[in-house]
Amino acid sequence: MNNRADVIVVGAGPAGCAVARAYALAGRSVTLLEANPEGKSPKRFAGEWLHPEGVDALKQLGFGSTISIQGRPRGRGFVVYPGDGESPVKLDYVEGQLGLAFHHGDLVGEMRQVVASTDRVTFLRGLRVELADDEGVVLESGERLEANMVVGADGRSSIVRRSLRGANNHKAVSAMTGILIEGVNAPYPDYGHVFLGKPSFLLGYEIAPSVVRICVDVPLKFKAEMKDPEWLIASIRDTLPLVWRQPCEEQIRGGHLQWQSIQFIDRADYGNGRRVLIGDAVGHSHPLTATGITNGLIDAIELVQTADFRAFVRSRRRACRVPELLSRALYDCFSKEDAFSHSLRRAVVSLWRNDKEERDRTMGLLMGKSRSFLTFAGPFFKALFGAWQGRDKTTTVMAGLSSIASWIRLPMAYAMASWVRPKT
Ligand SMILES: Cc1cc2nc3c(=O)[nH]c(=O)nc-3n(C[C@H](O)[C@H](O)[C@H](O)COP(=O)(O)OP(=O)(O)OC[C@H]3O[C@@H](n4cnc5c(N)ncnc54)[C@H](O)[C@@H]3O)c2cc1C
Repeated sequence: MNNRADVIVVGAGPAGCAVARAYALAGRSVTLLEANPEGKSPKRFAGEWLHPEGVDALKQLGFGSTISIQGRPRGRGFVVYPGDGESPVKLDYVEGQLGLAFHHGDLVGEMRQVVASTDRVTFLRGLRVELADDEGVVLESGERLEANMVVGADGRSSIVRRSLRGANNHKAVSAMTGILIEGVNAPYPDYGHVFLGKPSFLLGYEIAPSVVRICVDVPLKFKAEMKDPEWLIASIRDTLPLVWRQPCEEQIRGGHLQWQSIQFIDRADYGNGRRVLIGDAVGHSHPLTATGITNGLIDAIELVQTADFRAFVRSRRRACRVPELLSRALYDCFSKEDAFSHSLRRAVVSLWRNDKEERDRTMGLLMGKSRSFLTFAGPFFKALFGAWQGRDKTTTVMAGLSSIASWIRLPMAYAMASWVRPKT
């Protein structure tokens, strides 16, 4: 094995494959290290929806075959079912752009194939990195590899991030389980579906023709109950479309569930320029807004294209701040159970239902087309005002004001954090 390269990339997930290929295309020698052994296609339950910006990034890096596989569902946007029998609201990607839906393992498998055959990339699987420093990494076997730069693309439990900042002690906000059902279609086959209901909300979309992925978000207060299949079935039954109920119940009773814990970690810390973090190793939001893979791909492209590390960090922080805020606000809005949050939920859905401009604004934020705080703040405060007007009038004005105050804290905290964040 050659123990020296220009760049060592730790982790061959979507972000690691993308950055390895981008550096190699730019003429650098790259060693890409992946802990999972060769041939073991990752079956894990993770990102399966890509926004149009992510699709463009795949094309730009020459992962075109990944996108063009026949029969792969195309993502046109989202359909939100507000619950209580109300009709759904459709939010289309702006300008007719298309996202993509797929099985996570298929995307990663195909990206790994492309990167393995890329000149200047040495792709080594089944090698776990134990330690990282500014000059290289140490493998589980004790062997040392050196490089001018180490890129940590090693996901949520990143060893490279730990080498810089110590253990991550962020708490989970919820658990999400993935259920695959076959032989059924989605009500809107090219769309991602968001069903508001119980225990908080469900997501559903086709990842292949007639193969539907259902994701159930379970708040942690149901930690004990979530282990009971009958509790899960009863909780989601009324929220699921009729045709999905029976196959979904069969999968749950058969124990075919994959659980993941869900955290929010701000995308603030990109490393020190010698050890650089990208993808989930930087931070991550709730899968509700499906931004993780797209973020990782854009990190990879910008890192390679931006000569100055500090300019890279500034650009990525600016790009991710408002979508992160949107993700947190939507998660709270869709999952909180108090009366004011219900009212806010109704107000948000009504804003989307009645105003195409607001739908486009939301989708623009999700697609990374807008980075402006005002693009978020305008509809946020409109929805808050709508929630105030539609609130349960039997509660006191003080109780209403205190609910509003708790909602305003979120954007304020974000605004403050970006002002006080140390300049890189
Ligand atoms: C339930 C769920 C649903 C999601 N849905 C979506 C979605 O619809 N759309 C979306 O965009 N995102 C979604 N995400 C997020 C998305 O999965 C991640 O953002 C994305 O996978 C991150 O890619 P990555 O390459 O940064 O990290 P990962 O995909 O985590 O890849 C990291 C790689 O590094 C390897 N590795 C780790 N440690 C080491 C080590 N020490 N040495 C060597 N290799 C190592 C791992 O084996 C892995 O292959 C979802 C996440 C979850 C949990």
